[in-house]
Amino acid sequence: MTETKTPARGADRAPIPASWDYAPAPEARDIVKIADRYGLFIGGKLVEPLSRQRYTTLDPSREEPLAEIAQAGKADVAKAVRAARDAYTKTWSKLRPSERAKYLFRIARILQERSRELAVLESLNGGKPIRESRDVDLPLAAAHFFYYAGWADKLEYAFPGRTPRPIGVAGQIIPWNFPLLMLAWKIAPALAAGNTVVLKPAETTPLTALVFCDVVRQAELPPGVVNVVTGDGRTGAELVASDGVDKIAFTGSTEVGKAIQRAVAGSGKRLTLELGGKAANIVFDDAPLDQAVEGIVNGIYFNQGHVCCAGSRLFVQESIADAVITKLKRRMSTLRVGDPLDKNTDVGAINSKTQLDKIRALVESGVAEGAEIYQPPCRLPERGYWFAPTVFTNVAQSYRIAQEEIFGPVLSVLTFRTPEEAVEKANNTPYGLSAGVWTEKGSRILAMAARLRAGVVWANTYNRFDPASPFGGYKESGFGREGGLHGLEPYLRLEPR
Ligand code: ADP
Repeated sequence: MTETKTPARGADRAPIPASWDYAPAPEARDIVKIADRYGLFIGGKLVEPLSRQRYTTLDPSREEPLAEIAQAGKADVAKAVRAARDAYTKTWSKLRPSERAKYLFRIARILQERSRELAVLESLNGGKPIRESRDVDLPLAAAHFFYYAGWADKLEYAFPGRTPRPIGVAGQIIPWNFPLLMLAWKIAPALAAGNTVVLKPAETTPLTALVFCDVVRQAELPPGVVNVVTGDGRTGAELVASDGVDKIAFTGSTEVGKAIQRAVAGSGKRLTLELGGKAANIVFDDAPLDQAVEGIVNGIYFNQGHVCCAGSRLFVQESIADAVITKLKRRMSTLRVGDPLDKNTDVGAINSKTQLDKIRALVESGVAEGAEIYQPPCRLPERGYWFAPTVFTNVAQSYRIAQEEIFGPVLSVLTFRTPEEAVEKANNTPYGLSAGVWTEKGSRILAMAARLRAGVVWANTYNRFDPASPFGGYKESGFGREGGLHGLEPYLRLEPR
């Protein structure tokens, strides 16, 4: 409570607050035990890196060190790939599918049991609000393991006329925005299909993957089925180059995705890429506006906008633009930015200094090119990496903020008059990962979904995920699908019966 008004009647009545502040509601940090240093998870054990190199991983909300992490070199990656190959040939590919399923169900249940600890760790290491890691990342990660556990013993019925066989060893490289969830998206289908894996988490967010190694041990997964090598892009490049890997699955930037595609060309390795995006979130004049504003906010400020499918370009039909922008600004002023471990926080810390610098540079370009910037008044903590929720109006399609992926809490608003114009503008991007459509008309939703060049189109909602629903891109957003039956295909050889 900040100020109070004098009550109109009755001195015995409690004063009416003019505005409310939320008292801090911090989640317990000590539920997580973080070791001072971590090794690499190879062959079922945490081992010292042969490279003898380490770096420090931080809490981005405080710029404080959390642990020393191994920077795996070429020999470490080779060792992990050998362990994965051994486990593939000697145990995992020989197990009955129903046995594989049992392990995956176990992992899913342990993730649920340890979800509070993992959610706190995810927020500590990545900066995302605990409300999101607790209510989105962790439940979805467990759901992915449950879902693919269910497929493990049904593969032979899933592809009529074809016999599915595992591929072998999968090298998997993931980003820092949803560390444990991306791990689940990668590991669950690979294991269900009978492959073994070497996973490389992003350099800024290795901790939940390292605790996941403990989950794997608890589940008594045969050694070497899951291996985790930490390190930066150099470690990733070693994994991509490794001769012992049969498939590479990558989620990250388009630039690195292209480099990986070049690196595997001609090697016979399978490849799936889930890359950047610049999604259009399209609001028609018949849309329920308050609901749409919630969807716009969720579309761009969820996870500080560190979301490849974020609704970062808002297209509003011209006749309602003023009303939507007014409502949006009002709603933005209620967003609470701050401590990721506070249960009231809506927008947490930016994941790294590098990312913060990138967001700042793009926002400066937006101002310089002539867009109008709005940021609600909010007090940002002094230490750590922070960026206020931002919206740009008066944006032209040619501006960098309308073209490039910002990967931060920054929305660019553009307008349109007709559905044709909306489609034209929405598709005017090298990306094609996702889109949103807000309208009362079902027929318009179907017509738009058919014409939008995006792997996922949400209607009257945004950023909804389900393990049964395939996710992936068109054009420079990559290829291959994760989730659903489609998500198994990249991990299988389908032979004619
Ligand atoms: P972002 O821009 O979101 O940080 P990146 O594409 O740089 O995304 O990183 C995603 C993942 O790819 C991280 O795990 C990173 O270490 C890894 N990576 C970066 N460069 C390379 C590379 N040349 N080869 C393989 N992996 C890489």
